[in-house]
Amino acid sequence: MKARILRRTDALIAAGVVPAGRRRAVERVARRFAVALTPHVVELVEAGGDPIARQFVPSAAELRATPKERADPIGDERFSPLKGIVHRYPDRVLLKPLLVCPVYCRFCFRRETVGKGGALTARELAAALAYIRHNPAIWEVIVTGGDPFLLSPRRLRAIVRALDAIPHVQVMRLHTRVPIVEPSRVTPALVASLAAEKAVYVAIHANHPRELTAITRAACARLVKAGIPLLGQSVLLKGVNDDAATLEALLRGLVALRIKPYYLHHVDLARGTGHFRTTLAHGRNLMRALRGRVSGLCQPTYVLDLPGGHGKVPVGPCYARALGGGSWEIEDPVGKRHRYP
Ligand SMILES: *Cc1c(COP(=O)(O)O)cnc(C)c1O
Ligand code: SF4
Repeated sequence: MKARILRRTDALIAAGVVPAGRRRAVERVARRFAVALTPHVVELVEAGGDPIARQFVPSAAELRATPKERADPIGDERFSPLKGIVHRYPDRVLLKPLLVCPVYCRFCFRRETVGKGGALTARELAAALAYIRHNPAIWEVIVTGGDPFLLSPRRLRAIVRALDAIPHVQVMRLHTRVPIVEPSRVTPALVASLAAEKAVYVAIHANHPRELTAITRAACARLVKAGIPLLGQSVLLKGVNDDAATLEALLRGLVALRIKPYYLHHVDLARGTGHFRTTLAHGRNLMRALRGRVSGLCQPTYVLDLPGGHGKVPVGPCYARALGGGSWEIEDPVGKRHRYP
């Protein structure tokens, strides 16, 4: 029998992840934002405690929005020429075939849209693919959502094949949290649906070392065996991974699973996510702490997605300072400054 995804507050209380006394608050949050926990995540919460629970279990803190927070924190709407497409950079587009996730992360930057719409209809998907086909500048298609790994292998295969057949599309990248939150879904059939002539990358969203269980390791291994390079994407979250030791364990854990850390995201200004936000200064200090101490393979780029749709920008520490006359002052991994002629 297939274990059920928990959505209702009653079910969360019965599973022991929400105390009965919080029922009213959690019900209010659930009326505002989508809630879901997979049985695997309930086990992760039981084994992993606070850093896992904070990410997935709704809390009253989500009802507090500040004036700086927004419904569309990274300004996607302005760059959406048609349903299911976001085209901000000339050479790449987002394709969002569905707005459903197996779990709903409490800090999600798309929290006002995910879990509220379903999948694109066949006609909408065909229009989105036609948009890509008719734009020869599009070199890469980033399939995201929602979570594209929730599509059936048959539907995923149809999308991958359609993109693979577009001559100017050279690279496909799928962004997913499924290997972490519902690893049993990464079946041989799902992996086979990603087979293509063109390069297919899978970017996996993970935020805490305790998310990297043996089942997740096996799911990642199946993808790697199929020749799919894996990238890691993490969000810097207060109370989850905002200390050097946890970040180091996460990044080392990802690389050991053959996942190359790609981005560490500063939390976007989505409504009701203030309890997750650290300062940029703190994030930069963490990046500085990792540099030199941890293998270069483990170093992600620390990025901020600018509000208003201005795009992603690296905001990590800078180690070089121009002195004029073509010479530079460079800081080494232990913080000592050197003149570079
Ligand atoms: C994040 C994002 C991308 C991908 O950016 P990369 O820096 O290539 O990972 C592309 N389009 C949009 C709209 C995005 O938000
Ligand atoms: S899996 Fe991604 S899109 Fe879905 S809720 Fe989490 S952060 Fe948002």
